[in-house]
Amino acid sequence: MALENVLRDMGVVGAGGAGFPTHIKVANKYDVVIGNGAECEPLLYNDKYVIERQGEEVVKGLELVMQSTGAKKGVIALKKKYLSIAEKLKKTIAGKKNISLFLLKDYYPVGDEFILVQEITGKIIPEGGIPPDIGCLVNNVETLRNVYMAEKGNAVTRRALTCIGEVKKPSIIIARIGTSFREIINLCEPTIEDFVAIVGGPMMGKVVFDLDTPVTKITSGILVLPRDHPLVLKKTLRIEYIIKQSKAACCQCSYCTDLCPRYLLGHELYPHKIMRQINFGLDLPYEIIQNAFLCSECGLCEVFACPMELSPRIINQKIKENLLAAGYQPKFSGKKENPRELQDYRKIPSSRIKNRLRLDKYDKDGLHPLPVMETDPDQVEILLKQHTGVTSKPVVKIDEQVNEGDLIAEIPEGKLGARLHASIRGRITYIDEERIVIKK
Ligand code: SF4
Ligand code: SF4
Repeated sequence: MALENVLRDMGVVGAGGAGFPTHIKVANKYDVVIGNGAECEPLLYNDKYVIERQGEEVVKGLELVMQSTGAKKGVIALKKKYLSIAEKLKKTIAGKKNISLFLLKDYYPVGDEFILVQEITGKIIPEGGIPPDIGCLVNNVETLRNVYMAEKGNAVTRRALTCIGEVKKPSIIIARIGTSFREIINLCEPTIEDFVAIVGGPMMGKVVFDLDTPVTKITSGILVLPRDHPLVLKKTLRIEYIIKQSKAACCQCSYCTDLCPRYLLGHELYPHKIMRQINFGLDLPYEIIQNAFLCSECGLCEVFACPMELSPRIINQKIKENLLAAGYQPKFSGKKENPRELQDYRKIPSSRIKNRLRLDKYDKDGLHPLPVMETDPDQVEILLKQHTGVTSKPVVKIDEQVNEGDLIAEIPEGKLGARLHASIRGRITYIDEERIVIKK
């Protein structure tokens, strides 16, 4: 069977981003396939775990994608500081002339596809573009592992994630899809009572108050923090307050632009000008505002660059939201850009970000590898929308018995989406438009 169909059947989606269905990506031709193991968000270590423990499977998945897409070159990107893992991986790829290892400097956001592609190929993805525009396909390393597992007949029912922060046992968790955050945090033993979780990394992740929230195919990390941690307070500010703060305090120093990774790439993104427009209502050319769509929401401007602790990222996010809601489609010239002259000198080391976020005390980088634990939940709640595209359609009924790996929800005919499979053996106890619950 063509790889495209296998991945569709087994529900493989991008494990490192928004969960774009992988079967759509492999249906095209590329020159280079990149395995992204950069994992630039501070405190996340699951990609490192995957490369270290499942490196052979990652490489086999990469080879499958290369065969299917006609790519002549495969690259696995990993941080240079992980020396022993790199050595191990070098042995795995020894003799494979078309596959190489690329060692990255430890800065943020080196895992951003645009930055990663530039590091590896020297080419710039055009404004508003995607890696395929310059012949590249980027897949997270866990996605590549899932490709290999799918070829062996295994649907995506588990994922590796990092649980860290205010817990006694920071760990890599192999979580069944649908396990609650509560169960995972309890497994790692919280050290305080009044905590919240940040899902994803501290830079781009979101605060989650409801600990019954289930793990999805794209949950890369659970960061447990005190409710009054500065990062939690910052991430939960209301937009009205953020705008008021900007009006009162933006001094137009332009540091947000100077350090913006997408501006440094050569794109026409000037966060300080967008702030000027929002703050003072000046009549700037409309392209300045619509270029908020070029923002990757990496958060470097709000966490590191801005001396007034303002949030150009949130302002950009809001502009995009409002313009899309008004039916506006951004237009970009697609012209090829050259990186700004100072790009190399403005790469912010991950350690400084961690420090700035006041998260260094939770970092267990020196104690690696983190212990690995597996979840064994009595119940899972599988969300019907946990990928890019439309909500999946249940194909099971209440009281039906299912085994791990059985299909429980299908992609609606002719739509973009992903199949879902049971992650435990049990009985279907609840179905609505958003979820399917299975009890052991
Ligand atoms: S860095 Fe902060 S203060 Fe300076 S221009 Fe940007 S938003 Fe305004
Ligand atoms: S979040 Fe800020 S630093 Fe990051 S791309 Fe957007 S404007 Fe630039």
